Amino acid sequence: MYSVFLCLFFLYGITLGSFFNVVGLRVPVKKSIVKPRSACPTCGHQLKAYELIPVVSYLIQGGKCRGCQSRISPIYPIMELLTGCLFAVTPIFIGWSGELFVTLTLISMFIMIMVSDIQYMIIPDKILIWFAGIFLLERMIWPLTPWWDSPLGAAVGFVLLLSIAVVTKGGMGGGDIKLYGLLGFVLGCKLVLLSFFLSTLYGAIFGGLALLFRIVKRRQPIPFGPFIAAGTLTGYFWGTDLIQLYIRTFIMY
Ligand SMILES: [Zn+2]
Repeated sequence: MYSVFLCLFFLYGITLGSFFNVVGLRVPVKKSIVKPRSACPTCGHQLKAYELIPVVSYLIQGGKCRGCQSRISPIYPIMELLTGCLFAVTPIFIGWSGELFVTLTLISMFIMIMVSDIQYMIIPDKILIWFAGIFLLERMIWPLTPWWDSPLGAAVGFVLLLSIAVVTKGGMGGGDIKLYGLLGFVLGCKLVLLSFFLSTLYGAIFGGLALLFRIVKRRQPIPFGPFIAAGTLTGYFWGTDLIQLYIRTFIMY
């Protein structure tokens, strides 16, 4: 029975994932997310219902447009699959509680931000404002303990990123700073610090490898959004264990 629920979460995730793709691609360029219907960016061929099935359509069409045979970016099915997988594993980590809604909201926001950041190097204000409203409501229903960990975390996340932006003279974008304020509100003080530590760690490892294998050029900016998402979710799912491991390794012995 339990696995049936997880499968449903997976299907629910990939379906929403294809909507998150649309939001992430259209909001930064100020296009409506409802109209027009999805079309091929090369030839304008409007997608029929059977071409809009998440992941499946992409695989059947061999990653090509049915109108003009031009390649469709693999980012769409990847993000759909990622949303599906994250939705499916969330109940395993979080359990069936109110916090489940908060986590699914967080994942949804991250997918939109990743698409937008990878495509345009922007984390749109509009997406952040929308989610700020949802998180505010959710944290009123399911508050952190103590409740003031939320405003404190928001202040810590915002000020931390702002100071780094000032010190590095623009090494952090405005979107990253606002996002961390919001993450602090959702996660609280301890986890937002852990999230930032892990995100920079992932970013540094990826940046180093990308330079080594010459995927990117020196000083070429890399979107930070995907690393923030990865770091935050690691901290969120394994945070307590990681902090305890750290204390045992470096402080107690
Ligand atoms: Zn086409």
